[in-house]
Amino acid sequence: MTNNILIYNTLSRTKEVFEPINAPFVGLYVCGPTVYSDVHLGNCRTFVSFDLIYRYLLHLGFKVRYVRNITDAGHLEGDRDEGDDKFAKKAKLEKLEPMEIVQKYTLGFHDVMRLFNALPPNIEPTATGHISEQIEMVKQIIDNGYAYEVNGTVYFDVEKYSKEHNYTLLTNRLLEDLLEGTRVLGGQDEKKGRLDFALWIKAKPEHIMHWPSPWSVGFPGWHIECSAMSNKYLGERFDIHGGGMDLAATHHTNEIAQSQACNHTQPVKYWMHTNMLTVNGTRMSKSAGNGFLPGELFTGQHPLLKRGYSPMAVRFFMLQAHYRSTLDFSNDALDASDKGFKRLMTAIALLNKLKPSGEKSGLDIQDLEKRCYAAMNDDFNSPVLLSELFEAVRFINSVYDGKAVVTESDLALLKKLMNNFVFDILGLQQEIPQSNDINKLMEFVIKLRNEAKAAKDYATSDKIRISLNEMGIQLKDNKEETSWSKI
Ligand code: AMP
Ligand code: ZN
Repeated sequence: MTNNILIYNTLSRTKEVFEPINAPFVGLYVCGPTVYSDVHLGNCRTFVSFDLIYRYLLHLGFKVRYVRNITDAGHLEGDRDEGDDKFAKKAKLEKLEPMEIVQKYTLGFHDVMRLFNALPPNIEPTATGHISEQIEMVKQIIDNGYAYEVNGTVYFDVEKYSKEHNYTLLTNRLLEDLLEGTRVLGGQDEKKGRLDFALWIKAKPEHIMHWPSPWSVGFPGWHIECSAMSNKYLGERFDIHGGGMDLAATHHTNEIAQSQACNHTQPVKYWMHTNMLTVNGTRMSKSAGNGFLPGELFTGQHPLLKRGYSPMAVRFFMLQAHYRSTLDFSNDALDASDKGFKRLMTAIALLNKLKPSGEKSGLDIQDLEKRCYAAMNDDFNSPVLLSELFEAVRFINSVYDGKAVVTESDLALLKKLMNNFVFDILGLQQEIPQSNDINKLMEFVIKLRNEAKAAKDYATSDKIRISLNEMGIQLKDNKEETSWSKI
C-alpha cells in the first residue's frame, strides 16, 4: 500500500502530493451549513464528499482534527453585506426565537447526516459561540492597517490589501472583472471600495441578534467566522480547507484575505472544492426552489420523484460521481444506484457463504487491493473505486455459482478488502428494511427471547440480545413490552 495521496488543490489548480504540515496530524476545516432552514440534497452532497475524504485519511492512519462549523448568525441575504438577516426573517415567519430556528435546523442537519452515515466532525463550532474571537481578529486586522471603521461598521480594505497581495489567488480572476460584477458606490455608501466587505456590521434597531463590540452593538460579517474558528482550532496555518465550489469566489477568497491580513501568513495548504448537485443542469439551491429535502427523497413525496430511495442508495448515487464533477439528479440515475447498492450488499452477504478451495484464485486479490488504493490515492476517486469493487462483486458471484475458485488466504483478504473499502472508506452500510417484514421478524425474535427469559434460560436470552447488538439493534425492556431500535 502506498500512502502517496494526490489532492487537487484549488490554489495551484493541479494535483499535488499530500504532505501534511505536521504529519501524522491533519487539520481539516469544512464550511458547514447555514442553519436557517433544512439542508437540501446539494448541501448533503458536499458534506458526504468530505466524509469520504475524512474517512480515507483516518483509514490511512492520519490523526485528523475535523472541524465543521455551524453558521448561526451574520448571514445576510445576498452574499455581500446588504439585505435582511436570514435567521431573523425565518424566526418571524415561523414565530420562533432566532435561536429556536438555529436549534431546530441544527438537529435536523445532524439527523440527516446520521442517516447518510457521515461521521461527526471532532469540533462543530458555532458563529454565535465565537463572537469574542471574531472581534479579536477584526481588531488585529484594523491594527495591521487592512480594515477601517465607518459609523460602527468595519470594512476590509480590498484595494489596500490587493496592492500587496493577490486577492484573487483562489479563482485567478482579474480584479477588473470582479469590479464589473459589483454595483457602483453611491453617496449613501459607507465603504471606500466597491469590493470592500464587512467584518463587523452595526445592528439596525430591528436586528435581534447583536453583541457589543469596540465599534458598535452589532454582529459579525459572514466570512470572519470561518477565519476566526479555523485559526482557533487548527492554527494560523493548517492543511485542508474545504467547501462547495460556489464558496471559492467570495467566502473563501475573503477568508484568505482576512487570515493573511491578521497573521501575515497564508492560512491553508490545500484548498478543496466539491462540485454541485444539479437538477436538469441547474444547481440545486435554496433560492432556486429546486432543492429536495433528504426527507422528501427518502419518502418519495416530491412532484419530481417517482418513488422514495433509501439513504444508502442516495449515498451510493453520490459516490458514483467524483467529488469534482457535477452530479445531475434524475429518477433513472437513482434507480440505477439503488440496484447497484443492493448488488454490492448482496455480494458482501454471499462472501460469508463462500467455501475456499484450490491453489490459485480466479482473481488476483492483491492486485485488486492495489487498484482500490490507487483509485482513492488519485484525489479520492470513488467512481473508479466502485468499478474496481464491482469486479470483486462479479468474482464473488461466480465463486458462489461454482464457476470460479478462491483460495483460503485470498478469501480472507477479499473479506478484509470489502470491509475496509465498502464500509470504512465509502461509508456504506447494510440497511435494515423498515418494512412490515422486519417488524414481524423482530416481534418473533423478541418473543423467543422473552420466552427464554421467562423460563430462566438466561444464556439463550442474553445470546439473542448480544447478537442483535452486534448487528446494530438494541432492545429496550420496560414493564409492559420490549421495543427495538437501531443503535
Ligand atoms: P449553505 O448552507 O448554503 O451555506 O451551504 C452549505 C454547503 O453546501 C456549502 O459548502 C455549499 O457550497 C454547499 N452547497 C450548496 N449548494 C450545493 C449544491 N447544489 N451541490 C453541492 N454542494 C452545495
Ligand atoms: Zn466558511
